[in-house]
Amino acid sequence: MSRRETNCATLDAGALERGAASLGVSLSAAQLDLFREYYLGLTEWNARMNLTTVTSWESVQERHFLESLTVAEAVSQEALDDGRFVDVGTGAGLPGIPLMIAFPHMRGTLVDSTAKKVGFLESMGERLGLSRMTAIHGRAETLAHRGDLREGFDLALARAVARMPILAELTLPFCRVGGQVVVHKTSRAESEIQSAVHAIETLGGRLGRTMTPSCDGADSGRVLVTVEKVSPTPARYPRRPGMPAKRPLMLG
Ligand code: SAH
Repeated sequence: MSRRETNCATLDAGALERGAASLGVSLSAAQLDLFREYYLGLTEWNARMNLTTVTSWESVQERHFLESLTVAEAVSQEALDDGRFVDVGTGAGLPGIPLMIAFPHMRGTLVDSTAKKVGFLESMGERLGLSRMTAIHGRAETLAHRGDLREGFDLALARAVARMPILAELTLPFCRVGGQVVVHKTSRAESEIQSAVHAIETLGGRLGRTMTPSCDGADSGRVLVTVEKVSPTPARYPRRPGMPAKRPLMLG
């Protein structure tokens, strides 16, 4: 038996399987194996570069995989069946890769401004056979002006990338009218969320709901914030790289 098979076989995925089931997501043995393989890839690459500070199998299942899958509670069944999503500032592929493992017909475009991370994503996509995944190196501020990406997605996702007024400018331009932005935040972020209303409305969005996912095993202090895309984003947004963070779209 190869070292990889030995490693894989010893990873008990019970927590992941139960947590996913509590979200209404049933994972097959083959899908659980893909999660194990993703974990092994993360661990191998993490030895060479900084991908994640969460490293034990237990905590990766809870804080990375299950937390990513909670998006399933916030979006429509159609989006899960064959939706197109962009994951802005995906890092090691979170939440995008867990969603593509669990929902193999979703088409995910993973964006990150760090070239080395995109190298990891490309390698992982191949290793996991994620043929519907595209990884793009670049900044959201630039990529959102590309004709094939602007307003080209049903969903725009982001976790742990920026504060909400900034994040609105990095995500909403990718979303088609009628689509949705879904971002992970902590339950303490309510004032941050409210401070983004001006940015959201300027960019063609409308603040939706903040929901607490019910997922066995995932961190209960997390919420998902949804924003509906109700009208096209004015052509001047996003502003040039760095500007959304330097001068967040806020009143006063
Ligand atoms: N979403 C991942 C990674 C969060 S770290 C997770 O939840 O674990 C934030 C990531 O966003 C980093 O990898 C960084 O390179 C990327 N990033 C930050 N600003 C960006 C921008 N303007 N455009 C694209 N990627 C960006």
